[in-house]
Amino acid sequence: MTPPKKRIAILGSTGSIGQQTLDIVRANPDRLQVEVLTAQNNADLLIEQAIAFEPNAVVVGEEKYKYVKEALQKHDIKVFTGADALCQVVQMETVDIVLAAIVGFAGLRSTIAAIEAGKPIALANKETLVVAGALVTALAKEKGVNIYPVDSEHSAIFQCLAGEFHNKIEKIYLTASGGPFRGKDTKFLSSVTKAEALKHPNWSMGAKITIDSATMMNKGLEIIEAGWLFGLKPEQIEVIIHPQSIIHSLVQFEDGSIKAQMGLPDMKLPIQYALFYPQRIASTFKRFDFAAYPSLTFEKPDMQTFPAIQLAYEAMKKGGNLPCVLNAANEIAVGAFLNDEIRFNDIPAVVEKCMNKVNYIATPSLPDYIASDTEARKEAQSLTKKKISL
Ligand code: NDP
Ligand code: MG
Repeated sequence: MTPPKKRIAILGSTGSIGQQTLDIVRANPDRLQVEVLTAQNNADLLIEQAIAFEPNAVVVGEEKYKYVKEALQKHDIKVFTGADALCQVVQMETVDIVLAAIVGFAGLRSTIAAIEAGKPIALANKETLVVAGALVTALAKEKGVNIYPVDSEHSAIFQCLAGEFHNKIEKIYLTASGGPFRGKDTKFLSSVTKAEALKHPNWSMGAKITIDSATMMNKGLEIIEAGWLFGLKPEQIEVIIHPQSIIHSLVQFEDGSIKAQMGLPDMKLPIQYALFYPQRIASTFKRFDFAAYPSLTFEKPDMQTFPAIQLAYEAMKKGGNLPCVLNAANEIAVGAFLNDEIRFNDIPAVVEKCMNKVNYIATPSLPDYIASDTEARKEAQSLTKKKISL
């Protein structure tokens, strides 16, 4: 008997992860059905997706609401707008799984709402765990909700842990490509352009995560994300630079054995694994060819030139609202860099200043996280606008 179709809510369907998720739906029409699609600004793509996949509901940013509503008038698709609507659609009875792929802090509330409603989460939005990992993981435990990682490194670790859940992890290695500026020094970084920073060597992703990869803040966020997903201390998480992006991460067990997960860099694989876990569904993704990669190389990260990793370790060690502050300041700084308001090296400098400035809260509630996020954004904005020597 064929299992019933999984009905999926895709939050951030117009983004890089969202579009790749729809590719998977397209390839598995007998297994997946789109129930919800959401976007912020990209109304035309959302309309196109909605007509193609016929979801029950779509949610779009307020500025585009009327436009989308009119375009979908003749279709049997509900159109909503606003943050509250995002939280409501994920709770619909007809949703079996939520793919959380909104970028940044904006993804937090809807993910929490989905967990509250007992929906399994395929989590791409790493910022949710960075900002409020304690709250989110406790809530997921209380509600018996599984959070399946979509981030490739965390999916790799999750895949290495299959059949090993009772064996203790000694440590994990998060691999990192090193981004477009691997091997460069601080002086070089002081004059890099937005276009150079947006050119990731191995992955094609949204603008924010691509800049995060160039500063290595992405790896910093992933350290914190891994801590929450797998219950690890900072000293159990090591970053290793692996420029080919073939090994997606590794787990070292207490007997010294190391398991790695590998394959060509393609986000569709971790997305699909998260959607169908524990099953592996046949795919036509391009296969790895050993002869094309005669050497896989590894090196230590340069944390002096790329201080973002250190900042993340520090935020993780101190905990409380500090990772939330780090995340908010980083979102503002990345936005300012993309607007040509600050230099590349100013991004970690803004983050560090905000971490030192914003009031520390040891055990924040959700309103505390929201307040810390707002405070850190204000602080970061005043730094980026003043263009003070950071
Ligand atoms: P994109 O920028 O490509 O897409 C972001 C999506 O979120 C878009 O659909 C966008 O809508 C929507 N969105 C943006 N702002 C808001 C908002 N304020 N409210 C509601 N929706 C909003 O990002 P990616 O797909 O690259 O990344 C998504 C998440 O997945 C991030 O957290 C990232 O760190 C994580 N991730 C991504 C990977 C990748 O390969 N891309 C790999 C691992 C993790 P619109 O298009 O209309 O603006
Ligand atoms: Mg990743």
